[in-house]
Amino acid sequence: MPDIETLLPDAIKEVHAFWLAGMSCDGCSIAAVGATQPSAESLMTGNIPGVPKVNLHHPVLSVYAGAAFIKDFELAANNELDAPFVIIFEGSVADESKAKKYGGYWSGLGAREVDGESQPIATADWLARMAPHAAAVIALGTCATWGGIPAAIGNPTGAMGVADFLGDGYRSTLGLPVVNIPGCAPQGDNFTETVAAVLLFLQGIGPLPEFDELGRPAWLFGETVHRGCTRAGYYEEGVFAKEYGDKQCLVEKGCWGPVVQCNINQRGAINHMGGCMNVGAPCIGCTMPGFPDAFSPFYSTDPGTIVSSTISRTTGFMVRNLRKFSQMYLNKTNKWKKDGKVVSGWGHVRSPNKLEKAGHYFYEKMQFSNGVKPGVRKIN
Ligand code: SF4
Repeated sequence: MPDIETLLPDAIKEVHAFWLAGMSCDGCSIAAVGATQPSAESLMTGNIPGVPKVNLHHPVLSVYAGAAFIKDFELAANNELDAPFVIIFEGSVADESKAKKYGGYWSGLGAREVDGESQPIATADWLARMAPHAAAVIALGTCATWGGIPAAIGNPTGAMGVADFLGDGYRSTLGLPVVNIPGCAPQGDNFTETVAAVLLFLQGIGPLPEFDELGRPAWLFGETVHRGCTRAGYYEEGVFAKEYGDKQCLVEKGCWGPVVQCNINQRGAINHMGGCMNVGAPCIGCTMPGFPDAFSPFYSTDPGTIVSSTISRTTGFMVRNLRKFSQMYLNKTNKWKKDGKVVSGWGHVRSPNKLEKAGHYFYEKMQFSNGVKPGVRKIN
């Protein structure tokens, strides 16, 4: 098979990715390096066909330090890099003017001489200088997208999301507003998959991925947690967990899954393993702009739940019993039905009573009203 350089002689071979961390716990970095489809390693080694090799400049993962590490940040901020670059911002952007009043800073990267003294450079300053020259700015995690926990009510640092900091008129050199991949921490594959999709677009061989009106990858955040939850069947049948560790739906333990846009249940946390409700944790809405205040107090039944779980309990009771009734017949072979008895040395299986038999008779009439019951020949 011809390689990418033969197919696309003008293909971009390398893209720089500058990682900036604001008011962050580094959880987004951990999530990103845990991604598997694609993995951060495959992006950084250029192993994905058509996707340019990513030269990652990460303050923790880089093998360079000091001036050698900062040099490329300076080149990018001065628009002097010899290759396109993207910015990945983790953590919220602090209002550095609040810290400057007291001669300090909230979050920084590198240092410069100010009045003969070495002073930290605020990450917010890097973002402001680099963003106009970036092919894309990706806000990773709920702090970077919407402000998150640092921007909760009180917010002493004036923390905000990247889009709030750059303004809604911001466009990258590719013409993109800020791309938002929320989650606290975000699902790693959601990030690497979006990066790969944006890089294919940059390469000119992929379409612009679809983003929703808040800049989230639409194919990743279009559905609610609840729709992909392994416990949704219990919700539908009106059966709810009473204690942590119970296997049923967690809505009465404070789960916000029915309204929260996130794919954690389908994807799992890492390598398709884990994921909040899969491991017994109610959804606390961490991907949503209203997080955390709009979802607090965590782990308590929210008002909407009382209405929806009561409805579910009522209809679920009926549905559950009708399904048990169907199961009674579906758990029988044709022979057992003909003989009127189940052969099993494991236990006694009771036979349906007259009422259940009558019910089944009419059920089958409906079931095959548009078709032919197996074993019955239709004569035209
Ligand atoms: Fe929905 Fe949460 Fe219940 Fe899962 S645990 S079914 S997401 S309400």
